[in-house]
Amino acid sequence: MRLRKFWGWGYADEILSDQEESSIEKRILQTFGVDRVDTLEIPKVSDIELPASRISIPNVLKKFLSDDVEERLNHAYGKSFPDVARALLRDFPSPPDLVAFPDSENDLKNIVDWADENNIAVVPYGGGSSVCGGVETSVSEDYRGVISLDLRNLNKILEIDKESRAARIQAGILGPDLESALKEHNLTMRHYPQSFELSTLGGWIATRSGGHFATLYTHIDDFVESTRMVTPSGIIESRRLPGSGAGPSPDRLAIGSEGILGVITEAWMRLQDRPSFRASSSVEFLDYKKALNATRLISQSGLFPANCRLLDSNEALANGAGDGSSHILILSFESADHDVQPWLDRALEIAKEQGGNFESPKSNDEESHRKGSSGNWRNSFIKAPYFREGYVRRGIVQDTFETAITWDKAHDFIEEAKRRTAHAIKEISGKEALVTCRITHTYPDGLAPYFTYGAYATPSSMLDVWKDIKLATNEICVSLGGTITHHHAVGRDHRPNGYDNQRTDGFKNILNSVKLTTDPNGIMNPGVLIDPEGKQVNNWMTLK
Ligand SMILES: Cc1cc2nc3c(=O)[nH]c(=O)nc-3n(C[C@H](O)[C@H](O)[C@H](O)COP(=O)(O)OP(=O)(O)OC[C@H]3O[C@@H](n4cnc5c(N)ncnc54)[C@H](O)[C@@H]3O)c2cc1C
Repeated sequence: MRLRKFWGWGYADEILSDQEESSIEKRILQTFGVDRVDTLEIPKVSDIELPASRISIPNVLKKFLSDDVEERLNHAYGKSFPDVARALLRDFPSPPDLVAFPDSENDLKNIVDWADENNIAVVPYGGGSSVCGGVETSVSEDYRGVISLDLRNLNKILEIDKESRAARIQAGILGPDLESALKEHNLTMRHYPQSFELSTLGGWIATRSGGHFATLYTHIDDFVESTRMVTPSGIIESRRLPGSGAGPSPDRLAIGSEGILGVITEAWMRLQDRPSFRASSSVEFLDYKKALNATRLISQSGLFPANCRLLDSNEALANGAGDGSSHILILSFESADHDVQPWLDRALEIAKEQGGNFESPKSNDEESHRKGSSGNWRNSFIKAPYFREGYVRRGIVQDTFETAITWDKAHDFIEEAKRRTAHAIKEISGKEALVTCRITHTYPDGLAPYFTYGAYATPSSMLDVWKDIKLATNEICVSLGGTITHHHAVGRDHRPNGYDNQRTDGFKNILNSVKLTTDPNGIMNPGVLIDPEGKQVNNWMTLK
């Protein structure tokens, strides 16, 4: 099996070239006006001393549990900025005692039952691409220990119903394996989060991930037909239905549950035919308000573009999609059934009425779809997590946060969030920062802004700087009326100043009651979303 990086994104052999590293260094010197940069070495497994495992492996589960050091390192963190930073700093105080790799749902059930009987916390692990502390294994002394439960062996498509265009799929399947298996049947799910390569179906469902489609099918929720979840109290399964008015939806318990109620083992997912018609274009605007207005009108037109991504001028510049003089709206349409050029033409008409400029619409083939502003943006998008590591190695806090807001507040919200974030970064780091914004998903009633910033710090100060900025951005999103997350989930990092303020006490009590039913001993992913009753939790975000 190809080895993954335990200290960063992707596979161990995917590192930046010397040229890329030195271009990052040059950029830091220029941007922050400093005359030297300290760089952390990439760690090796042998550099790190882990605390001994506190749990001995029971004979009956020997085949599925591992105390291998590299596996424990690989499962200690997800892939957020502080995860990568702590790994580069060789800081692993709370790795999982053991990592579990069940081969079947029955094995998985036996592992959960054993953990429940022995007061061992269980952290479900899909691809480990969480960027909000969702798979972190730091739990309090109230537990005997903690295991990371990796679903990578539950990775098959179990059944395909071609007539209804749906498939029963195991939760541990990675994005590329899922799509290549569906391709054999000329089908697709077309759910492509940026982390597609190393994230799983179960992780997408548990976090309500946001994918490729900018409108209509924005979240994984839209593709879920039914779910099956193993909990410490037994199995919860919903019925396959295209729609149902029978009370609150049981799937809603699994979708977005972030591993606190149980482990999603499989789901029936809605599929699509592979698109063969495409049309795309990018539109430039000098005025951001008009660009937003065009985005709103297109989102409310019923055209439902597959891509409708608005990059502000700085975001366009940073990603090679423009020269920084205009805001860019990337539009694309796709269909397996019909020519979509008329849809694009109508969207461009709307954009033009708002002052947008564009070249003649692109032709229908995939090749031209990947060129120009949208192609440049796409390439930069794919490379971004690798480049971020170059910055983290040099202590620079390079991070993003995302939210959603209704159209009536959109313009003021975006401007104010950028202003307040830049101000907070200046206060915390002592240096100016640029905060850029792109709109990732749009709805008839609102949109999802996604902010990116870089803040000056050094390898020794970067974690404190990041934490203070994160607490500030959590507060900014929620106090300005947005949500703490549109698609990155809550995990542990989005609770303080964020989800804990956004969620009402009444809803917290409901979540608590559900958790007490499915997980009465509070072993499932403690500290994510809510604190389990009667147990202390650790939240690294609030530790000083
Ligand atoms: C470079 C990068 C780009 C990203 N881009 C996107 C993006 O475009 N859109 C987006 O939505 N997100 C994005 N993310 C965030 C992340 O990829 C998503 O949250 C993704 O859905 C997580 O899937 P995973 O399989 O890696 O889950 P993990 O990270 O392993 O787990 C995430 C959470 O779900 C729980 N969980 C995982 N599997 C199960 C299961 N089977 N049953 C119950 N609970 C489970 C975990 O305990 C954890 O709380 C990105 C992350 C990175 C690092």
